[in-house]
Amino acid sequence: MSGCSVTLTPVFRGGQVEKVEVLYKVDGLNRKAGQELFAFQRSTVSVPAAKIENVTAADDLGPLPLMMAETAPYPMVFLHWAAGRELRGGLTIRYSAIPGEKPCEGRHGPYFHFSREGGGAAGPGLSFLMDVPDWRGQIFLRWDLSRMPEGARAVCAWGEGDADREGSLDCLRQIYYAFGPLRSVTEGDFGMYWQDEPPFDAAALAEYVKKLYGIMRRFFRDDQAVYRVFMSHDRTVSSGGTALQRCYMFGWNDTQRVSIAEKQNLLAHEMVHNWPHLNDEPYGETTWYEEGTAEYYSIMIPLRAGLITKAQALDEIQKRTADYYTNPTRHLSDAEAAKICWQDRRAQRLAYGRGIFFLAGVDAQIRRATEGQKSLDDVVLSLLEMGRRNEALGNEAFLRAVQETADIDVSEQWRLMHGGGHFAPDPDSFDGLFTLSPVTAREADTGKDAVSYQWAIR
Ligand SMILES: [Zn+2]
Repeated sequence: MSGCSVTLTPVFRGGQVEKVEVLYKVDGLNRKAGQELFAFQRSTVSVPAAKIENVTAADDLGPLPLMMAETAPYPMVFLHWAAGRELRGGLTIRYSAIPGEKPCEGRHGPYFHFSREGGGAAGPGLSFLMDVPDWRGQIFLRWDLSRMPEGARAVCAWGEGDADREGSLDCLRQIYYAFGPLRSVTEGDFGMYWQDEPPFDAAALAEYVKKLYGIMRRFFRDDQAVYRVFMSHDRTVSSGGTALQRCYMFGWNDTQRVSIAEKQNLLAHEMVHNWPHLNDEPYGETTWYEEGTAEYYSIMIPLRAGLITKAQALDEIQKRTADYYTNPTRHLSDAEAAKICWQDRRAQRLAYGRGIFFLAGVDAQIRRATEGQKSLDDVVLSLLEMGRRNEALGNEAFLRAVQETADIDVSEQWRLMHGGGHFAPDPDSFDGLFTLSPVTAREADTGKDAVSYQWAIR
């Protein structure tokens, strides 16, 4: 099997992480002159990646003459490198990745920055690591901490220090990394890591996240224990979270209070993202499912497990109802929303709102059609099983799974939701615990009348 070692050498200078020196040694590649060798994701949903410098490549014959090109398949920007001659033997890539400072303007966007914190740095692989397209093999991730101060640690979603995995090099980009004087709570293959000490009890929060992971892992029938959570000290006035593979990063800031009660829903939402997926091509096609399942199960799993009360669940559901039904962009189709959602963040929220109420409604219909024998859980778990067999699944697979589970056809309703048409939540949604009545509300920004809904405990 082909092998690739990736060595990360963080360099501490002038009281901070100056850069990370990155070295790839890739075997088993065949590339003609002009064919793409490696690529870097320069920007992700308008978040810039690390600055990279001094990119060089060599093979068995010596230095490779490199050519660079840029492409921008929305919502990403990529840099691609090719060599002026055919590759001979192993490929070596070297460059420096320079972490940036944390964003401080406005609300917090997705955690795709590679940035400094507390004498270290953290970020997702996609913001500082190269991809070598169409390569698979054994990956050897190696850390060289000799240029960091005494006591520095390094971790990624796969674990602390060096790690080996089989797969594509994209795997390395789809996980979070942190290094420096890390603080942590760990147990086996679970860990939560942070750098700046927050003003709340981070260890208690980590215990909550660990418990939640145990519950979700059982629900989604996952036999892997690996899961790591990274905490960011934000400079913005609001914070959020972003999930990658078997990990997520979430933030806190100096202006908003943090407690388990305040963070529990975000922590659950990001964790659910580890499981249900459909193939989101073109971008925005299945975001309703990704965000809808995260929203739905971020409430229903903690509620069913007794981690939150019915009143807390009601609050979460009501907040989402008001947000979606008064969002002035709610009549955009999913495709239209995807095109503008990183400029107009109101449109970015649509997939969450329509996703949760559509899925909750499908759940109610399945339960009625099967006299309570089946639910949305059966659909989601069967799609998850198919996904584990590496089947690429889209909206059709979802509609088929609903049909097979309950012998009902929700494709008309799905088209209405996907196209931005108005639909009311199903009153039997959310395990039938609440009642629903229509109310007139004020549309956000415009103040126009909008049809919204009020939930109450049954
Ligand atoms: Zn999400």
